[in-house]
Amino acid sequence: MDLKAFAKKLDRALFVEDEYKRYAYDDCALPIGFEQTISQPSLVLKMTGMLELAPDKSSKVLEIGTGSGYQTALLAEFSDSVYTVEKIKELSEKAEKRLGELGYKNIKYKIGDGSEGWIENFPYDRIIVTAAASKVPTELTNQLKAGGRMVIPVGPRNVQELLLITKDKEGQIHIHSDVNVVFVELRGKYGWTEKNQGDRFNGL
Ligand code: SAH
Repeated sequence: MDLKAFAKKLDRALFVEDEYKRYAYDDCALPIGFEQTISQPSLVLKMTGMLELAPDKSSKVLEIGTGSGYQTALLAEFSDSVYTVEKIKELSEKAEKRLGELGYKNIKYKIGDGSEGWIENFPYDRIIVTAAASKVPTELTNQLKAGGRMVIPVGPRNVQELLLITKDKEGQIHIHSDVNVVFVELRGKYGWTEKNQGDRFNGL
């Protein structure tokens, strides 16, 4: 089954609370609690596609922002292993339970600040960030393997550019800008902090 067919089969209702289940089959973002949202399926699919996971399912993937675990399921289905980091304990635990029930055994969960990556298991073939950063966290590009690909929304709080970052064989970073997107903010050391709260008014 290819990515598109799998995404169609994956029941998004399993990843949202009862009150939102009736919207689960619409192509819209939905709340997942704690002021966080799950993106619309078409965007999840697009971002996963941009990663170009190895066709033999050998990729080792780092995901920042586990959230509901919906995106994690897509990654886990088409890669060797997924390392997923979420800062909100309740969301991480809920996602782990759901994905465990779906039978995924190739996912490792961490509760913590994903803007710093997950250094213990680096390097990663692919990195996907599903929260908006004010700039590209160098900790993450450092943890990307040569020949690797990373997808991350970067920009001010109201709208971001979806970036595809590639690292060539020589370790050089190349950045390609794709569509505009709106994500909740990436917090933490290399994301948005209380200190730079006001920066969006300064054209950051
Ligand atoms: N991909 C998710 C949606 C993620 S919403 C899904 O399919 O449901 C963005 C998530 O990023 C939120 O759950 C938020 O808590 C988390 N997040 C924000 N900053 C983070 C950080 N520094 N480290 C880890 N997770 C973070």
